Amino acid sequence: MKTKPSELPLTAAEYARGVQAGERTVLARAITLIESTSPQHADVAAELMQLLLPHQDQSLRIGITGVPGVGKSTFIESFGIYLCQQGHRVAVLAVDPTSAVSGGSILGDKTRMENLCRHPAAYIRPSPSSGVLGGVTRKTRETITLCEAAGYDVILIETVGVGQSEIAVRSMTDFFLLLALTGAGDELQGIKKGIVEMADAIAVTKADGDNVTAAEKLKLELEQVLHFLAPATPGWQAEVLTCSAVKGQGIAELWQLVEKFHEAMTESGEWTRRRLRQVEEGLIEFAREKVLTGMLSSPVVQKDLDQLGAGVAAGTMTLRTAASKIAGDFLQERREG
Ligand code: GDP
Repeated sequence: MKTKPSELPLTAAEYARGVQAGERTVLARAITLIESTSPQHADVAAELMQLLLPHQDQSLRIGITGVPGVGKSTFIESFGIYLCQQGHRVAVLAVDPTSAVSGGSILGDKTRMENLCRHPAAYIRPSPSSGVLGGVTRKTRETITLCEAAGYDVILIETVGVGQSEIAVRSMTDFFLLLALTGAGDELQGIKKGIVEMADAIAVTKADGDNVTAAEKLKLELEQVLHFLAPATPGWQAEVLTCSAVKGQGIAELWQLVEKFHEAMTESGEWTRRRLRQVEEGLIEFAREKVLTGMLSSPVVQKDLDQLGAGVAAGTMTLRTAASKIAGDFLQERREG
């Protein structure tokens, strides 16, 4: 059987050209390439990222979180379509902590956001799966760059509430939005998890029909809570809105708020500082991964792990001492090698 052209491997330059021409199939393949853990893909992926270097930093990155059922996909679809109608190109990415743990997914249901999926100005990509959350976030950082190079100027990054994944998404976005739900039993559960403290805005969802009064009440409660918290972004007082994704209400207002934030933070210099922090966080993540991979593949460390592990298991050595010795032996090996 003849190989279909789409299955032929591309060079880094071909990937770069296709991505920059906004070809979705090439973009999708490029993301798959950078998500790959296979060493044979690493060189092409590195070369591709190098070629796209001048094209990063050209979008507005918005993190969106909320408990399952709060209405994330319905909101993102409505918000995304609104943005496309305003002339933007929108990429939707996901950081799904369950895909990191089990290979399954809370966010990955294929029937989600069907209308936005079909929109020519939108691109939707499910969460990468990986053994660890750090792996997922590292890949998402590069996927943002790929999407920016493909001309997407608003990147929405969705996640779902376990704390760690919110921190990760906060660290790679400019604006962080929490969606809140009325009548969720413990209405302030996001507060307990410290997620409210990370928010630049909170949108109370499903403010329609019989739920309007409850939504307004929750809005007031959240405003009071925010009043006592330090701002998530210096110089910005987080705002609470109500919205109905189904009725399309509150969507334009939310975008206006993001634009107001962008303007004010650019003026104060906070925008640049935040972008710099995003880069620093990314650098640390990539460097940590490199060091760990190098360390775990070292024969000296392998030997230590076997021997010292046995000692710790037998109760003759503490974890702390064994770990210090492993790190010391590794550094020594590097110095000598
Ligand atoms: P997710 O799990 O956070 O992605 O939530 P979904 O977007 O799947 O929404 C969960 C449920 O809430 C679905 O049955 C939606 O139809 C419903 N829903 C979402 N947004 C709205 C809204 O604005 N108004 C109303 N009345 N229902 C909504």
